Amino acid sequence: MKGRLVITLKEALKLSKEELTQLKEDLKKKIEARPELNGYIDVNNVGDGVPIAIKDNIQVKDWSVTSGSKILQGYIAPYNATVINKMLQAGLSPFGRTNMDEFAMGSTTESSFYGKTQNPHNPERVPGGSSGGSAAVVGAGLAIAALGSDTGGSIRQPASFCGIVGMKPTYGRVSRYGLSSYASSLDQIGPMTQNVEDAAILYDIISGSDEKDSTNAQKDDKVVPNLNPDRKLTIAILPDFIKDASDDVQQAYQKAIEALKAKGHTIVEKTMMDAKFDISAYYITATAEATTNLARYDGIRYGNRVEGKNLEETFIKTRSEGFGDEVKRRILLGNFVLSSGYYEAYYVKAQKTRHIIKDNYAKIFEDVDLILSPVAPTIANKFGELANPMDMYLSDLYTISINLAGLPALSLPISKSKEGMPVGLQLIANAYDEQTLFDGSLSLERAINYQK
Ligand code: GLN
Repeated sequence: MKGRLVITLKEALKLSKEELTQLKEDLKKKIEARPELNGYIDVNNVGDGVPIAIKDNIQVKDWSVTSGSKILQGYIAPYNATVINKMLQAGLSPFGRTNMDEFAMGSTTESSFYGKTQNPHNPERVPGGSSGGSAAVVGAGLAIAALGSDTGGSIRQPASFCGIVGMKPTYGRVSRYGLSSYASSLDQIGPMTQNVEDAAILYDIISGSDEKDSTNAQKDDKVVPNLNPDRKLTIAILPDFIKDASDDVQQAYQKAIEALKAKGHTIVEKTMMDAKFDISAYYITATAEATTNLARYDGIRYGNRVEGKNLEETFIKTRSEGFGDEVKRRILLGNFVLSSGYYEAYYVKAQKTRHIIKDNYAKIFEDVDLILSPVAPTIANKFGELANPMDMYLSDLYTISINLAGLPALSLPISKSKEGMPVGLQLIANAYDEQTLFDGSLSLERAINYQK
């Protein structure tokens, strides 16, 4: 493992029980030596398999699972998420839960009840969000791999900020059973790893049919047995779309295009619709669904309760004290767009826009296998830089349309900025075409040969 901080998932899967025990001891020591990173909320191993860090919104039986929120303090998960059961069956162990933006709402991991997580490459910068803890611990070599969740970019953007690989599967590929819901029609769990091959391995393990999730696609095909970086693909680039990205990102984009050409892929230019429509459609859809999903946190059924004189006052006090500002803002926005006077004007319009976005992608995929896109408009922001919520929402412009269209996408590191920060890009594939996504990503990863 010359030059690397920790072994890969592929390597770890070959270790004996004794070697794995030793590996976990070593990891614990390294984690304890870097408390200021604050990527893990706690370390709490289950089973004797390969350790995998788990975002704090995925149920692991008998763990405290809190979605980074005060309102869920005291809640203990009574069951495993389907992804956790699949991991255990494949010889992986949930190992520590990772920090996140409260209820996965955010892009910086600054809104967690447990305080902010640092970027492993620079303590003044955010790790991205909402799966910032998972990205930071993998980027820092404190985890072999991690699970995150992606509603509007929360796996891919922190992966890009921390110099790791993050993959969001096609909607329905991975069971959402046991993932605490933010926006149910957008949420997917996915792998966050040190390289593309590990992402494919972890994706194969966690994906597949599950009768406990009615939105599951019930598909069980696997990518690793057919992984082939030598396929020659047609890849769309988006010259207009990248204009809003910083110089660092645009340079990475050019570098990736050259690398793909050198590998014999065919590059074609395409146009995407204006991202301002994506942002509006996403923030209406996501907040509307979040309002409904978060209604269950009332102090009666889960976690923390603040007693009032009567039931209504208990609800109000519990929610007022338990939720942070960003969560409250979204509950208000979601209720507004669903209210009878505004439902047609906002919610219904957002659903129509969502269809147009989906059609836009379908049209592009008539001619190409993959699309190359930025992940974020900039490198990792400094703490506080996205304190204005509108600025934060706008920074999601490159990731959210993919969730609205339900497509799979993978973010991988391409270059370093002048400050030495990682710059990632993503490849996007057609629905259920994870095979092509991983084949093309592996080809790009090899062509780039990114040095950590
Ligand atoms: N930043 C986006 C939001 O705040 C995406 C979050 C996510 O993917 N969970 O909604």
